[in-house]
Amino acid sequence: MLSRRLGAAAILTLLGALATLIAPAHAAEEVNLYSARKENLIKPLLERFSADTGIKVNLVTGKADALLKRLESEGRNSPADMLLTTDAGRLYRAKAAGVIQPVKSTTLEAAIPAAYRDPEGYWYGLSLRARPILYAKDRVKPEQLSSYEALGEAQWKGRICIRSSSNIYNQSLVASMITSRGEASTQAWAQAFVKNFARPPKGGDRDQIKAAAAGQCDLAVANTYYLGQMLHSKDESQRAAAAKMAVFWPNQADRGAHVNVSGAAVTRSARNKANAIKLLEYMVTDASQKWYADVNLEYPVKPGIAWSETLQAWGTFKADGINMAKLGEYNAAAVKLMDRVGWK
Ligand code: FE
Repeated sequence: MLSRRLGAAAILTLLGALATLIAPAHAAEEVNLYSARKENLIKPLLERFSADTGIKVNLVTGKADALLKRLESEGRNSPADMLLTTDAGRLYRAKAAGVIQPVKSTTLEAAIPAAYRDPEGYWYGLSLRARPILYAKDRVKPEQLSSYEALGEAQWKGRICIRSSSNIYNQSLVASMITSRGEASTQAWAQAFVKNFARPPKGGDRDQIKAAAAGQCDLAVANTYYLGQMLHSKDESQRAAAAKMAVFWPNQADRGAHVNVSGAAVTRSARNKANAIKLLEYMVTDASQKWYADVNLEYPVKPGIAWSETLQAWGTFKADGINMAKLGEYNAAAVKLMDRVGWK
């Protein structure tokens, strides 16, 4: 027996030595965060979290797809405890890649509607982004618009700007349509929709808004926070372009406008899991939800939180109620479908 050979005093010394070996990992309360959101869009919130809880946040920022690749290659040895990223399609990929783990939290479940979190608790939506139709006010009347489906009508021939199918926002939009309408119907629509493009897709969402404002097309499909960023831009030409455009909320008579989330998850490798959960929960307090949505020009996921003035000006809308996980589930089908109809 160990006790007979070493004696009580020796065991105590041994335990003491072990304690000092283990202690450093727990002495400094911390959480390591990989964030696809730029530092200025998250740092003040993390600083408040640290001040309130005493937990230090070590922040690594990077591009969304690069961070996911990094998590995959680091595997079990990853120092990351938490991943913060955009688009449900990417959160789904992180789950499929096995780099995040499920979390059970009544706080998160109470704050975040079921549609905006993974059904198995692998990831949680923290803000909502909407992807409606933006129209040039001097050339289009809102009465001409109704749904994403109607953008396949002949009246829009050569009048639509939208970015490439390689972009996950469009993949998620098409995935949402497959979820609601099925693949055959969505493909028939996409075929007609692509024929209405004003030009081969190029640039980001902001470029589509600028092109519509400049008269290269009359409609743009884009996330509203880009319009918001342009409205608040220091660049006078961006403000002028954004002022020419208005938001139309499609599919209000049926499933609602397409929305997506930014969200977060605890990594599979997390050594500070409890702290990561604390940070996740901190991000759904009323104050955090308001700040995070405001600074990103997105919508809070938590019901009952006031919207920023910019968002209020675009009006309230009905959002598509499908679970965000569907956007990931149908991502591969969406990509193939867009390829088949020649959506570049
Ligand atoms: Fe974006």
